[in-house]
Amino acid sequence: MFLGLGWVSNVSKCTFIIILIIFTAVISHGAEVAITIDDFNLSNSIGMEPLKRNSEILSVLKKNQIKAIGFVTTKYLNDPKALNAVKAWSSAGHIVGNHTENHWKYNDKTLHEFSADILVADKKLQQFPTFQKIFRFPYLKEGDSVEKRDGMRDFLKDNDYTNGHVSIDASDWYVNMRLIEKIKKGDKVDYEKYRDFYLKHMWDRSDYYSKLAQKTLGKDIKHTVLLHHNLTTALFLDDLIKMYKQKGWKVIYAEEAFKDGVYKRTPKNIPAGESILWAIAKEKGDSSLRYPAEDSIYEKDEMDRLGL
Ligand SMILES: [Zn+2]
Repeated sequence: MFLGLGWVSNVSKCTFIIILIIFTAVISHGAEVAITIDDFNLSNSIGMEPLKRNSEILSVLKKNQIKAIGFVTTKYLNDPKALNAVKAWSSAGHIVGNHTENHWKYNDKTLHEFSADILVADKKLQQFPTFQKIFRFPYLKEGDSVEKRDGMRDFLKDNDYTNGHVSIDASDWYVNMRLIEKIKKGDKVDYEKYRDFYLKHMWDRSDYYSKLAQKTLGKDIKHTVLLHHNLTTALFLDDLIKMYKQKGWKVIYAEEAFKDGVYKRTPKNIPAGESILWAIAKEKGDSSLRYPAEDSIYEKDEMDRLGL
């Protein structure tokens, strides 16, 4: 009898320990991420009508009860389709942020030219009820000299803007570009293969930046993942959110993510920019970083090999 009870108690202890291990694993690996979508160029109708693309993205966000942020490049608003898309985006309660009028690379422009371009966009974005003064640099390039870097930081501050940093940078745009090329060629498209590659790539980069946060800051952060208003987002966003959840990650509101103190950091690198985590790690002298942090060159060979 006594032995029997001892056996039960050991089983209970084991069960408790196993539950504790699983619980700890979920807690420690369960990062948080917000969806951020850039550009809003609705001129490309290959693969899906642009407004259908927009409604697909919005319905996935609604289904998953997520509020995202869209960084709009305002030259695209000359196209009524893009204007309607951003209106729908704002009506659905998603934040609208500033991504300049012309989508210039800051490194190619002067501080004066670039800041004027931000103000043109600012004026055009005022019409959207959910517009907030959050700014994202095109190509995540934040200046190639101390004067330009700090000049822009002062400019944003003086105009009540915050930097809409990316923490998880990726090359969804490249996967999208390859898919569009394939459709254009008239070849038979195996969408499942593109989806699998896309999800693998997005997880690879998400996991990398989550680990970079832990290595650099000693803890994980509330992430912001960079996507674009394109075909791959319309086709695979639901699968991407599912994947994050399966990995134990929580998908959170963009507004919530930007409250993380990491987005207020101002790393002093030249050239400035890339993912905020990359930039902080760079400033700390991490020698394992590649530059640019993300680009098509890193994905090309594998996509060639897979015939994508
Ligand atoms: Zn962009």
